Amino acid sequence: MEIENLTKDIRARAFEKKDPKTPEQVGASWYNDDLTYEGISKTLFMILPTPGCSWALGDSGGCTMCSYVSDCTLEPIDTETILRIFNDHLSRHPINEEDKISVKLFASGSFLNPYELPKDARDEILKTLVNLGNVTEIIVESRPEYVKEEYLDEIFEIIGDTLFEVSIGLETSNDYTRLKKINKGFTRDDFENATKLMQHQRKTKGYNLKTKAYIFVKPILVSEKQAITEAIETAEYCDSINVDRLSFCPATIHGGTVIERLWRKGAYQPPWIWSCVEIINTVRDELSIPALLDTSGFGSRRGPYNCKKCNKDLKQIIIANNLTQNKIEYECECKNEWLAEINNSDMNNSTVKVKHIPLY
Ligand code: SF4
Ligand SMILES: [Zn+2]
Repeated sequence: MEIENLTKDIRARAFEKKDPKTPEQVGASWYNDDLTYEGISKTLFMILPTPGCSWALGDSGGCTMCSYVSDCTLEPIDTETILRIFNDHLSRHPINEEDKISVKLFASGSFLNPYELPKDARDEILKTLVNLGNVTEIIVESRPEYVKEEYLDEIFEIIGDTLFEVSIGLETSNDYTRLKKINKGFTRDDFENATKLMQHQRKTKGYNLKTKAYIFVKPILVSEKQAITEAIETAEYCDSINVDRLSFCPATIHGGTVIERLWRKGAYQPPWIWSCVEIINTVRDELSIPALLDTSGFGSRRGPYNCKKCNKDLKQIIIANNLTQNKIEYECECKNEWLAEINNSDMNNSTVKVKHIPLY
């Protein structure tokens, strides 16, 4: 498939230019307020050292917008090293000062894939978190093919009734966009089967298991207007199959990716912040599913952008409203430029910003 070849080729060049990281360089953590299932609560975010996403390391080259694999070791890491780095990061934050905390574990790929995170490391990490006594939620990410009954049984054997959320990068409900433009390599049915399996486990075994979908805003070769429509349709689809939460991820330009290649050639532009606001406001208006809007890269050259006057303000409001789930109320004169683009970009099928609207 053409998109796979292109992704693989660009990925191989990126690997040539950049040395793999050491496990210590991959590990990272921070501690913030976040919206949990029980309201706003302190949350520990941790990036675990892993070789990188198997999908990106394999023959597919991975997804067209993602460069997480470039920040990994590319080689398996022994359990002892993973646990040493995990415990080191755990000790850096005042987590025992809180009655309840949530923990988000990022594996730069799939937490549930034993190649990326060996089972004994996974088990030990979960045991340590449960033994802290105040961890009420554990959030992980996985591709749908690793969501297996066997793994969930093993996990709940350790964590008991602790809430466990599995976030899956569905990105879009449109199979053509996901397969041909994002190179995601799984179908909507694959996502739906994984979601149903988790819902079934919750029902039959009483597991405190939740599901979250990541929705990617503005893949390549999608106009600004289509990007808004597709993100909203994806949210509606997720709601219809009872996904528990949504997280919108507006595109930012990662190095060594297909999206970067198109951006450099002027054939791609990340979405307007206004488009992201339109999506989140529509979802908060029409659906009751909790929805977060990621603001990574907002206001930067490689990220979602409005104008110098409002980028920062909007970013702050979006972060604050992720906690309250309120709609974003804000005005700036650049909104007219955005409106002109979404109303006219389909005229010439442009996927980049239209600076001059043809008047005659
Ligand atoms: S988006 Fe997820 S599945 Fe795709 S390459 Fe990145 S980590 Fe892997
Ligand atoms: Zn503005």
